[in-house]
Amino acid sequence: MVEQTLPEEEKNTRSLNFIEEIIEQDIRTGVNESRVHTRFPPEPNGYLHIGHAKSICLNFGLGKKYNGKTNLRFDDTNPVKEDVEYVDSIMEDVKWLGFDWEDRLFYASDYFEQLFEYALILIRKGSAYVCDMTAEEMSETRGTPTRPGKESIFRNRSVEENTDLFHRMRAGEFEDGSRVLRAKIDMASPNMHMRDPVLYRILHAHHHRTGNQWCIYPMYDFAHGQSDSIERITHSICTLEFEVHRPLYDWFIHEIGIYAPRQIEFARLNVTYTVMSKRKLLELVREGYVNGWDDPRMPTICGLRRRGFTPESIRNFADIIGVAKRDNVIDVSLLEYCIREDLNKRANRLMAVLNPVKVIIDNYPDDLVEEMEAVNNPEDESKGKRKMPFSKTLFIEREDFMEDPPNKFFRLAPGREVRLKAAYIIRCESVVKDPETGEITEIHCTYDPQTKSGMPESNRKVKGTLHWVSEKQAVKAEIRLYDRLFTKENPDDIEEGKTYKDYLNADSLKIITALIEPAVSGSAVLDPADKSAGYEKDGVSGKYQFERTGYFSVDKDSTPQHLVFNRVVRLKDSSSKGEKVKENFTFL
Ligand code: ATP
Ligand code: MG
Repeated sequence: MVEQTLPEEEKNTRSLNFIEEIIEQDIRTGVNESRVHTRFPPEPNGYLHIGHAKSICLNFGLGKKYNGKTNLRFDDTNPVKEDVEYVDSIMEDVKWLGFDWEDRLFYASDYFEQLFEYALILIRKGSAYVCDMTAEEMSETRGTPTRPGKESIFRNRSVEENTDLFHRMRAGEFEDGSRVLRAKIDMASPNMHMRDPVLYRILHAHHHRTGNQWCIYPMYDFAHGQSDSIERITHSICTLEFEVHRPLYDWFIHEIGIYAPRQIEFARLNVTYTVMSKRKLLELVREGYVNGWDDPRMPTICGLRRRGFTPESIRNFADIIGVAKRDNVIDVSLLEYCIREDLNKRANRLMAVLNPVKVIIDNYPDDLVEEMEAVNNPEDESKGKRKMPFSKTLFIEREDFMEDPPNKFFRLAPGREVRLKAAYIIRCESVVKDPETGEITEIHCTYDPQTKSGMPESNRKVKGTLHWVSEKQAVKAEIRLYDRLFTKENPDDIEEGKTYKDYLNADSLKIITALIEPAVSGSAVLDPADKSAGYEKDGVSGKYQFERTGYFSVDKDSTPQHLVFNRVVRLKDSSSKGEKVKENFTFL
């Protein structure tokens, strides 16, 4: 066999994962003429989540890396649960993640006629039969993993009778559930999937693509492997639960006598503090625990997008976690680390005060407004500077002041000095309190005119630097502070008498009003194109680091009259868990 050279990009720093090793071996030994062709095969019965994102990055990533191709194929064999709404959202999500199926958009339903022909081949070979048992009878006679099943009394129908009945099933002569087509394999097989599995069921249901053309539908297992074969997929990558289906897929391919893709299984992605099952996510949406599929607390791709995640951060996450052969759970702080890293480099800074308290600078002229210069992104000089108005009355964070502070408190306190970022050093002289509640309503300060930022004489050092906004020019905005949707690390690990819903975090959404510096105004509303798709021209428009508090992203609800931001992630992981998790992966 001819040894093939591998594409250039292959020489990267990361060692190969086990799938890449298999593929490179196949390329070297000329399997499938060294072609690489993968696919992403979602069932359009829900919105995609971060687990799917991993599969998308893996399949499209491999296609790209090995100069191969990747198809998008909808495995739409169950008309009852599927819908065009899901088809559309899936295409949008794959595109947004940055992948392109070019002209290779397929549907398993495109192959219904071909699959019907395949079933006839099996019938003619005596390898499939029409069975009139009810669903209950079938499950009763299936046996258990340790006890063999019983053969159906319809198992030995003649080829003629089976052919006739199967055609009549298709013609709509029989009621739903009255008959099925089954493979004739082995009712005693230790692999339950090999015990005469159902290939076709009668379902008088409207299909989102084929309409009422069909009243029999192939089972997923009878469609999936053959669809891969029809598309001449070389490496059919799926999650571990399909390992036990593999012998069945191989059996179909062999019995029908068609091209055989190679199936490779990898471990599903699980993430802490969330659920990933489509059924559960659908339940959360339908029962109103969240505000739709794109609720920023959801692990869905559209939820992450609305929250303010970038495609780059998700691709990087998928890359860091790699592929495993055994089930594992990834700490959500790694995902948070990835978006923090990306936005730190690319998002502009703004000052926003989330929990304001008033500061009055007594020795500052009443009507003076100075334009201070603030750096847009210290990580990227090319982002330039902006002007920030400074005046006598400002706001700072309530948490940045303490009346009776401990020694280690380096922020504002009576008699102490701090720097207001990009402005002056101020000193607290006195406070005014609400006589009834005792709450501080005003902090009176003086400023030192010699300490203006950027001036040569401004080098005087103080320990604390605070963010602030000027009262008159500040813009109000609604801020949605999100926290984890569940309180339990693994909400699927259910104690007796409970359900995963008992672990929902009652405080996962808190809405506050913040004051933001006026530079925000022009850019705090998504343009209509962005609103529908969440695409951004420069990748991070509408995304900011609010100095010292976190990363925030304009929500699609935002209007010029009423700005709305989502908190993407806090500025720092209090435990630096993300960094630690990242390091562990680097050393894998
Ligand atoms: P269902 O339970 O409805 O089958 P599913 O999550 O398997 O849900 P599919 O639409 O069949 O959904 O998935 C499409 C592809 O995404 C499959 O190849 C599947 O293996 C992969 N995938 C799904 N969930 C994950 C996950 N958590 N991690 C990695 N890949 C996943
Ligand atoms: Mg599936």
